[in-house]
Formats: sequence, structure tokens, C-alpha cells
Amino acid sequence: MLRVGLTGGIGSGKSTVARLLAANGAVVIDADKLAREVLEPGSEGLREVVKAFGEDVLNGDGTLDRAALAAKAFASEEARQTLNGITHPRIGALTGQRMAEAPEDAIVVHDIPLLVERDMAAAYHLVIVVYADSATRLERLVTSRGMDRRDAENRIAAQATDEQRRAVADVWLDNSGEVPDITGLWDRLVGFEKNVRTQSYASGSP
Ligand code: ATP
Repeated sequence: MLRVGLTGGIGSGKSTVARLLAANGAVVIDADKLAREVLEPGSEGLREVVKAFGEDVLNGDGTLDRAALAAKAFASEEARQTLNGITHPRIGALTGQRMAEAPEDAIVVHDIPLLVERDMAAAYHLVIVVYADSATRLERLVTSRGMDRRDAENRIAAQATDEQRRAVADVWLDNSGEVPDITGLWDRLVGFEKNVRTQSYASGSP
């Protein structure tokens, strides 16, 4: 198994690249999706959140009111830590579970927007950074996503810088223009996966 971390700034095209890798056969684990899963109705995570932040973070139908939770969780550093203390261990456990379920020869791609911010590079055999210049990202977020321009600018500014991402990148994919052809990259990943598996057999490690 090859563990690949896939990251990049908001609107850079991570999900687009993840879809291409999945079409080639990668097992994709979407960190944002798991973050939602741990707070689904009926989950232990959601119960803990309600206990910590109150019933008014719920919609009438029992689902999480994300805006209400965000307003409370981002009000103070302590509140943010409380929320992270509930979600992070659960997201981590679910990620580990999904990795363990993948076939032995899988190329597992973890689509994780905050890989750099969380200092996670060492958890992967290889890190792919999807890059698009900030003007292009801003345009995509405003036109394709309908995001408010100021909100998009703030989100871009709050994330890691291109330099910080470049420092951990094994592969730098420029998605500022056309979506890149990943055929060559996929072949390299397949070769790398075989090497990793052969070496782990040789050393007797799992
Ligand atoms: P987020 O961090 O918000 O999840 P992301 O990095 O996963 O974003 P995508 O969702 O893949 O980014 O792309 C953002 C938007 O830009 C989407 O609407 C997508 O269709 C579009 N897009 C992605 N790549 C390109 C490209 N090369 N040219 C034009 N549009 C693109």
C-alpha cells in the first residue's frame, strides 16, 4: 500500500485531481467528508458537540447547524480546542479504519486540505500539492462556487502559504490553467507502490 497525501489551498483543484486519481484506481479518503461523517445525526460525536455547545447547534430535524456551531466554536481559542478535541480523534480513527480496509496493493490518496497546517507530511510515503495561483483560486471560488469575494479572500489568507506547501511537496501539480494530465504521475505511483510493498515484505514489517 502506498499512502499519498493530497493537499493544496482552497479552490486549487484537490477534489478535481482526487477524482482523476480515483478514476485510475486510487482509493480516495476525503478528509472533509469524514469530518462531516463524525457529526452525523445519531453519532457519538454529535452528542458530544451538543453536550459541549448546547442544543441550539442543532437544526429542527436534529442535523447539525454548521453555521451555529462555527459561530460558537470560533468565538474563542478554548471553544475551538473543545471542538477539535471532539472531532479530531474521531476523524483520525475513521481515517485509520478506511486505510486498513483498503487492499494490500492499494494506492490510498488522502485528500486533506489542512495537511500542512496540521503538520502531517510525515504520515505519507508521498505528498502531492495541487497549486493554482491565488487570483485563479479566488476567481474559481467566486464564479464556480458562488462564494462571497471577501469571504474567499479571507479563507485563502487564513491558510498555509504556497512556500509552506512547497516545502513538503514531493509532487507539485500546477492546476492554474488546464487540468494537468496525470497519466505519468499515476505510472510513477504504481511503481512506487510496488517498491514500498516489496521492501516491507523484505523487512518483515506489515
Ligand atoms: P476546496 O478546497 O474548496 O475543497 P478544491 O481544492 O478541492 O477546493 P476543486 O473543488 O477541485 O478544488 O475545484 C474548485 C473549482 O474550480 C471547482 O468548481 C472546479 O470545477 C474548478 N476547477 C478545478 N480545476 C480547474 C481548472 N484547471 N480549470 C478550470 N476550473 C477548474
